[in-house]
Amino acid sequence: MSGPPPPGRPIPDVSPIDHRHARNVILGAGAMGAAAAYHLARRGEPVLLVEQFEAGHDRGSSHGAARIIRHSYADVLYSRLMPEAFAAWRRLEAEAGELLYVKIGGLSLCPPGVDYVARVASSLEEVGVPHRRLRGAEVRRAYPSFAVPDEFDAVFEPDAGLISASRAIAAQIELARRLGAGTTEVLERCPIRRIDLDGERPALLADRLRITADRLIVAAGPWAGRLLPGLADRLRPTRQQVLYLGPDPIGPFAIGRLPAFICKGASPSEAFYGMPDFLGTGVKVARHSGPDCDPDAVDRAVDASYVDLVRDFLRGVLPSLADAPLLRSEVCLYTEAPDAHFLLGPLPGRPGVIVASPCSGHGFKFSCLIGRILADLALDDIPGIDIDLWRPGGHRGDAIGPTGGHDR
Ligand SMILES: Cc1cc2nc3c(=O)[nH]c(=O)nc-3n(C[C@H](O)[C@H](O)[C@H](O)COP(=O)(O)OP(=O)(O)OC[C@H]3O[C@@H](n4cnc5c(N)ncnc54)[C@H](O)[C@@H]3O)c2cc1C
Repeated sequence: MSGPPPPGRPIPDVSPIDHRHARNVILGAGAMGAAAAYHLARRGEPVLLVEQFEAGHDRGSSHGAARIIRHSYADVLYSRLMPEAFAAWRRLEAEAGELLYVKIGGLSLCPPGVDYVARVASSLEEVGVPHRRLRGAEVRRAYPSFAVPDEFDAVFEPDAGLISASRAIAAQIELARRLGAGTTEVLERCPIRRIDLDGERPALLADRLRITADRLIVAAGPWAGRLLPGLADRLRPTRQQVLYLGPDPIGPFAIGRLPAFICKGASPSEAFYGMPDFLGTGVKVARHSGPDCDPDAVDRAVDASYVDLVRDFLRGVLPSLADAPLLRSEVCLYTEAPDAHFLLGPLPGRPGVIVASPCSGHGFKFSCLIGRILADLALDDIPGIDIDLWRPGGHRGDAIGPTGGHDR
C-alpha cells in the first residue's frame, strides 16, 4: 500500500512532460501538411506530421470527395501557376499509381455588366490554355441543363476538372510513409496548444509533450491564426456551407454532361460554384462566401435560409436542379486573407518557421505544388516559384487579389 511521501520529500511529478525533437515538424495534416510531408520524404528528409484529430478528418478545409482544378482565374498570377500545379499532380499520380485528376471541363459564367469572364478569358489567352468563349445561347446548346439568358458571358476550359481531395491527402501521407521508410511519423490526436518561438528552436506545446524542431511548417488551416496571433488578421476562418443535390434523373448532371462551374455576379457574395455528381455523392453546389467563425465552435448544421438562397440561384441558372432533393449538406471552413491571396513563407526573422496558410478557399488545386515549395523553403532551397507576394511580412502593395478580392 502506498501512502503519502514522507515529510520533507517532494511530491513525485505524476504528469511528466515528454520532450521530443525532430528535424522537420509539420503542424497539420490537411492538404498543405500532407503535401509538405510527401515532398520532404521524397527528398530523403525525416518528417514528424502532427495532427489534432485523425488524418482525413472532416472538421477542417480539406475533406470530401473532390475539389475543382482549373487554369481559369481572373488574376493571371494564379493561372500562370497552374501548369506547374497540374504537373505536380501528374507526378504524384505516377508515384502513387493512382488517378487523382479527372478532366471534366469547367465553365466560368457571369451576367452582363460583370467583367469576370472577360478577365478569365484574358488570363487563359495569356497562359496559352485552350478555351472557348460562349454567349448564353451557346451555353444552353452545349449544356442543356443551363438556362442562362442570352446576354450571359461564359468561357469553357476543357482541361478543368476535379481532384479527388480525400484520396489525394491519403495518397500523399501513404507515400510519405513509404518513401520515408521508417523516418516519417504521423502523430494523430495530438492537439498543439501553443507554439513557443522564444527559444532558439521553435517548439510545439501539447498536453504533457514538448516537441522541438529544426524546421517547423505551420499548416494549421483555420486554426493557424490562434497559433500565430501576429498573423491572425490575415488568417480569418470563415464558415462555408455546401449542398449535395440528387436530381431525378441524375443523367444530365453526370460527368461528361455537366462541367464544373463558377458563376459570379456583381458583388463578392454573389459567387456560386458546383460540380457534377462524382462517385455518387450528388451534385455539389455552394456559395463561395461565408461569415467569420470560431473553428472549434462553428455551427455544423446548414441553415435553412442558405438552402433557399442556393435554390434561388439555381432557378436562374440550372432550373432543373433547383428543387432537387437535398441528399446531404455540410459545413466546411476556409481560411481567408482579406485580399484572398495566399500566405506562404518563413516568418520574418525566423527562417526555420514556415507558414502555409491560408489559401482563401481556392488552395486545394495548388496544394501538391505548395508542398514542394514548403519542402524547398524548409531545406533552404530557392523555390522555383516566385512567392514574394505571399510572404508573411511581405509587401502586398496594391495586389487586388485573384478577382478583385474573391476568387476560387
Ligand atoms: C467547401 C470548400 C470547397 C472548396 N473548394 C475548393 C475547390 O474547388 N478548389 C480549390 O482549389 N480549393 C477549394 N477549397 C479550398 C481548399 O480545400 C483549401 O485551401 C485547403 O483544403 C486548405 O488546406 P489546409 O491544409 O490549409 O487546411 P486544413 O485542411 O484545415 O488542414 C489544417 C490541419 O491542421 C490541423 N490543426 C490545426 N490546428 C492544430 C493544432 N493546434 N494541433 C494539431 N493540429 C492542428 C487541423 O486539424 C487540420 O487537419 C475549398 C474549401 C472548402 C472548405
